[in-house]
Amino acid sequence: MHEFTLTQNLLDLALKNADSKRILRVNLLIGPFSHEREDSIQFYWKDLAKGSIGAGAELHFEHVKAEMKCLDCSGTFYLEENEEGTMCKYCFSAHLQLLSGDDVRLESIEVE
Ligand SMILES: [Zn+2]
Repeated sequence: MHEFTLTQNLLDLALKNADSKRILRVNLLIGPFSHEREDSIQFYWKDLAKGSIGAGAELHFEHVKAEMKCLDCSGTFYLEENEEGTMCKYCFSAHLQLLSGDDVRLESIEVE
């Protein structure tokens, strides 16, 4: 159900930015810690966008890295994947905070 709400928000945002032109392509950034599945988003998009200028838009997912911050040494670094037992690259601490990479964001849209 989370994907449903997310897709609704992404669609609303895309429609707002489309200036009433037909949307051809939607570029999304997806972080390695996001729990959303691409195929679910595609599925809901198809359903929600039906009859709107967003219908038939191609969804393109770009995988972005997650930014982590170490709570012990304050170092920041990037992770490409959600790995088990991730440690700080500098001091090997396991006290990490996720700064970004746990969501799906609308980067841009291409209109007709
Ligand atoms: Zn550290």
